[in-house]
Amino acid sequence: MWALRGLRQGVLTTRWPRHPDEYAAAGRGPVVVLRDADTSGLEGRDLAGLCPSGAISLAGPGDVQVDQGACIQCGRCIARFPEIFGWGAAVHSAALSRAQLTVPRGESPAALAELSAALRQRTRALQRSVHLRHVDAGSDGSEEWEILALLNPVYDIHRLGIFLTASPRHADILLVTGAGAHGMAEPLRETYEAMPYPKVVIAVGTDACGGGLVSPSYATAGGIGAIVPVDVWLPGSPPSPFAILSAILLGLGRLPEPEPGRRAGAAATGRAR
Ligand code: SF4
Repeated sequence: MWALRGLRQGVLTTRWPRHPDEYAAAGRGPVVVLRDADTSGLEGRDLAGLCPSGAISLAGPGDVQVDQGACIQCGRCIARFPEIFGWGAAVHSAALSRAQLTVPRGESPAALAELSAALRQRTRALQRSVHLRHVDAGSDGSEEWEILALLNPVYDIHRLGIFLTASPRHADILLVTGAGAHGMAEPLRETYEAMPYPKVVIAVGTDACGGGLVSPSYATAGGIGAIVPVDVWLPGSPPSPFAILSAILLGLGRLPEPEPGRRAGAAATGRAR
């Protein structure tokens, strides 16, 4: 019966990123500022009351910015100002620096190119199979569900030569989730130290990037960047399996350089700045 059912359903495994996948493009990423948005409605407004995580700032008239590393994707800003904010791309939302997570202006193109070239140079030996070690540094558990999904028949990361390992000594990439709980700081540092060169660290999720809603606090560091050096920053609460896979491929230099406009501009609305 199971064999017949399998034959009827055919191959479920995605062929992304070599081939487009409509589900990869359909997801929601962190919030972006829409192109040509009239931001006058935000002036003089209590932005802390609008955004619970303080991700939105207004530097001057028409100069609104969103820190995607702090966006918990609650949707309040989009519900209140749909003419200003929209959902960003679910894939290609990862960045090579914390500053690049600020849209519409983040890292300068020159600094970005330098970061990308250095990472490609460092990881050029990792072109075949790679092993991931995951550390939960105070996560709420949501990112873990998305990481585990990478192993199911739909995403099947083994097809790309990517495997999970229990030992940091066998790991090439460190996936870290959670806001950086103080109790996990030393185990996280020890895991990083135990990994062989060249080690790539990916902060998975908004909590790992910026600490989320309750950081920094007596119990958390405000993101894992305060504990270990981060190479790839992946916002999202939680990021989708496609987004996690795209962050891993970015860390391995198997994706084109993420331009600021491309990260924010591939939004579902197509109108991001
Ligand atoms: S979705 Fe929520 S957390 Fe993100 S910028 Fe908008 S209000 Fe802030």
